[in-house]
Amino acid sequence: MARYTDPVCRICRREGAKLFLKGTRCYSKKCSFERRPAPPGQHGVRRRKVGEYGMQLREKQKIRRIYSVLERQFQGYFEQASSTPGVTGENLLRMLELRLDNVVYRMGFAASRAEARQMVGHAHFSVNGRVVTVPSLQVKPGDKVEVRDTHRTREPFKEAPDLIKSRQIPEWLSVDAAKLAGSVLTAPRRDQMPLDLNEQLVVEYYSR
Ligand code: SF4
Repeated sequence: MARYTDPVCRICRREGAKLFLKGTRCYSKKCSFERRPAPPGQHGVRRRKVGEYGMQLREKQKIRRIYSVLERQFQGYFEQASSTPGVTGENLLRMLELRLDNVVYRMGFAASRAEARQMVGHAHFSVNGRVVTVPSLQVKPGDKVEVRDTHRTREPFKEAPDLIKSRQIPEWLSVDAAKLAGSVLTAPRRDQMPLDLNEQLVVEYYSR
């Protein structure tokens, strides 16, 4: 499967915001965006005027990159969001938040979405008792996500209880740090998704 393999800190500099793609490094002084916030490239420091289309494009790219979704898959999410009752932009973010890799990250089992995605791919998790290796799986309210019994003592989960306790778990999820298990309580509302994003720009981008 195609995936982005270039340095990820470039993405934050390109989008002009910290996207928290590298876990603990993002909260340290080593964060590249803190040290060099200018866009990458020889002419990165030049100030450029960004038009309406540019703003829509950048916001779409930013959201896509936060969740590590490729363009075609993102378009698929948008089409599904626009054919679902409700506000399209909110529907889109909700679908992205309900991806299994994001839920694993939000529950605190992983330090970043990239790590969560890898953990899911390595079959460390089960959903409602069934082993799942598909990071894009859409979880639903009532679903139980847990680290498999036989994987609890493995390396990635040695620090997990401490990591979970240090994280702010969104109110639409519940997590039992001792059992390395969590549940999806409800589908998240917009005000329960802690994202500094303007999803309406994405709707405008695809409505051109
Ligand atoms: Fe972005 Fe994290 Fe890299 Fe900082 S350390 S630039 S927040 S990915």
